[in-house]
Amino acid sequence: MVNRCQSCNSNSCVPILDLGMQPLCNKFLRSEDEFVGEQFYPMELTFCRNCKLVQLDSVPPSNVVFGKSFNYLSGATPDRVAYFNRLAGRILRKFNLKDGEFVLDIGSNDGTLLKQFKDYGINSVLGVDPAPEPCRLANQMGVETINSKFETAAADILKRTKNRMKVVMALNVLAHTDTVHEFLDTVTKLVNGNDAVFVSVSHYLPNMIYGREYDTIYHEHARYYSLSSLDYLFKKHGLFIYDAEKISLYGGSILVYARNRPTAKTKRLAMLLKKEDVLQNIKTYRLFSDEVKRSREALRRMLQRLRKDGKVIAGIGAPMKSSTLLNYCGIGSDVLAYITELNQLKIGTYTPGTHIKVVDESRVFRDNPDACLILSWDVAGRIMKSFRKRGYKGSFIVPIPRVKLVK
Ligand SMILES: [Zn+2]
Repeated sequence: MVNRCQSCNSNSCVPILDLGMQPLCNKFLRSEDEFVGEQFYPMELTFCRNCKLVQLDSVPPSNVVFGKSFNYLSGATPDRVAYFNRLAGRILRKFNLKDGEFVLDIGSNDGTLLKQFKDYGINSVLGVDPAPEPCRLANQMGVETINSKFETAAADILKRTKNRMKVVMALNVLAHTDTVHEFLDTVTKLVNGNDAVFVSVSHYLPNMIYGREYDTIYHEHARYYSLSSLDYLFKKHGLFIYDAEKISLYGGSILVYARNRPTAKTKRLAMLLKKEDVLQNIKTYRLFSDEVKRSREALRRMLQRLRKDGKVIAGIGAPMKSSTLLNYCGIGSDVLAYITELNQLKIGTYTPGTHIKVVDESRVFRDNPDACLILSWDVAGRIMKSFRKRGYKGSFIVPIPRVKLVK
């Protein structure tokens, strides 16, 4: 049975791609004892013929997904910090922000983005995030952060920002919340009270479809937005998109600006919307599904051949998306000797579902494995360059958009 659409509530959803039973992609296991009771949930992508939203058919509740074991830290990735710095600078200039005018970041994680605003001299920043550990780190770094689900913190936010909020940001959050309608109602309330702009970043559907980025599908990510499906959803809550631009964050995202009243659309927004016509057609998604299945077979064949020849393969990076790829392709500890990470919270754990040991990145330079499967493929260029510089001699495998061996 296919569930109702998460946006328009119609029963017009049709299945596109079945990724099988998957664990929560951030639930890294601390010891082998935890292998036994591990929970798996179905992961199937559907397309709504009515409002054109691509979404997961069913999603585990937020308190299960974003519990205490949530260990993603923005600050752990140098590329991300640099990107956030440029993004903050751009927002600052676009809205001519001055100190004293508040920037709110919803789902602010460890405060990395807001820290960039502070570095530019905007000290009036506020974060809100439901995960306790990243909040603790943010506050420790001097970025004021409320540890709460966003919707329940609205009154507290209004009190702390004293009607001086200019920008409400939400990076990679709209796809994640399991209460998207309440979430947007709360955004509208905050924006209305301050005449602020709502700036959101979401992973952009065309990138996923054309780039075969099937690994960006995970339970934490319940909806996959195009501008058209986002526009439909926003309007339901009194928010009007007037500008948008494509950015490279998270392997290809859409940065969207919305106000609480209809505002003339920019030329670049109109152009982006026009290019989305093909995304209204179910055929596009059937093609995507076939390509993903072929991509999985190609990767499996390559890895099996290397293992048959006795080669040692390591995985590089254990971002959220690595879990979907490893589980969908059936890559376990018999294929990858280990996976390297920079995030201290992940080192020493085992990957969800596939139980591969996560070790410190320095291990690669001691072992020099025959091949490295780059699971953080969105920064593959930087990784390959830096690994070579640090003396790694083996080959690289880049799994997406096309399976590629780099000697
Ligand atoms: Zn719909």
